Amino acid sequence: MSLRHDFPGVGDWHYLDSAATAQKPNAVIDAIARAYGPDYATVHRGVYERSANMTLAYEAARRKVAGFIGAQSDSEIVYVRGATEGINLVAQCWAGTQLKAGDRILLSTLEHHSNIVPWQIVAEKIGAHIDVVPLTADGQIDLDAMRAMITPQHRMVALAHVSNVLGSVLDCRRAADIAHMVGAKILIDGCQAVPRLAVDVQALDCDFYVFSGHKLYGPTGIGVLWGRKELLDAMPPYQGGGSMIDKVTFEKTTYAPAPTRFEAGTPHIVGVVGLSAAIDYVQGVGLDAIHAHECAMVAKARAAIEQINSVRVFGPDNSAGILSFEVEGVHPHDVGTILDETGVAIRAGHHCAQPLMRHLGVEATARASFGIYSDDSDVDALVKGIERVRKIFG
Ligand code: PMP
Repeated sequence: MSLRHDFPGVGDWHYLDSAATAQKPNAVIDAIARAYGPDYATVHRGVYERSANMTLAYEAARRKVAGFIGAQSDSEIVYVRGATEGINLVAQCWAGTQLKAGDRILLSTLEHHSNIVPWQIVAEKIGAHIDVVPLTADGQIDLDAMRAMITPQHRMVALAHVSNVLGSVLDCRRAADIAHMVGAKILIDGCQAVPRLAVDVQALDCDFYVFSGHKLYGPTGIGVLWGRKELLDAMPPYQGGGSMIDKVTFEKTTYAPAPTRFEAGTPHIVGVVGLSAAIDYVQGVGLDAIHAHECAMVAKARAAIEQINSVRVFGPDNSAGILSFEVEGVHPHDVGTILDETGVAIRAGHHCAQPLMRHLGVEATARASFGIYSDDSDVDALVKGIERVRKIFG
């Protein structure tokens, strides 16, 4: 599978930072150019044909997103800026209104900061508490520990679907069953899952699911919150403004039904068009093929890296598209800088997962992450680069 020619941002370097943000295919770039060019107009307000057409495209994209993740209805799809905003929206509008002092929220050790901090903000306001499910040795959430620690006071469980550091795929379906056993809701952070796994929110049996467009080969500034209709319907607005209302008077304002209620202001129209093109592109390649391709890349890289003296790989053997590692005695930033000199772009740092770094006993890791366009040349360059690091640092 070589799709490099579809991606002008990939070119002749070795881009191994797709978990941070993915490069964009021409199909997405062209769709964005058209949407900002000859097709450009606002949505939902215009009485003229081009605006009506843009509104049709905007709402057709909502149906496409719904189909992409197995939502029952497009009215369950809320456009947000990204996963971060989706989680903040649920934290404020669901947890912020449903939880009371003494209630508890359950997270896991491997969460991205965006699936920790929004819950802390709301918990502090309400007097709720946060508990943390530990991990197993292979980077899974410890479901036995989760079962043992969950109580009826737990009202919300929030977990990543795929770890952005370890690449482990969490068993979210079993976590959902455990959450529902005590009547808790479960939110899944699907940022690293939607670009590489076929996702079905019904099969996962979750209550909320969020992801960002830019990791799915789409534009920045657009993401998706999926929520069960009855939950969204019962939630108050996130922000006030134009478009989200039913009727406004100075005495009282009533709100539009979900999802419009949560989409105040002129939305990211072009972002939605780009996201729609990204979904078409990914579905054209097929998520099963993408997943298999990335697993093969990771397996090849892992096998080669583990042959290099004093290199430690984090995460399970079957990690999805993401490979974190440490070259012992060398700071990951130095690893990243030396790799950059050889045209290999990786990420080095805590990956917005400081509690996980503490759990792993490191300050930071080096992370190579693969995408739809990665190929053997990227793996070879990565391995060669790490060998060079080892040589330079002895
Ligand atoms: N969760 C995970 C697992 C992530 O990898 C990221 C992005 N690194 C986020 C949440 C946040 O996504 P965004 O910055 O696009 O809102």
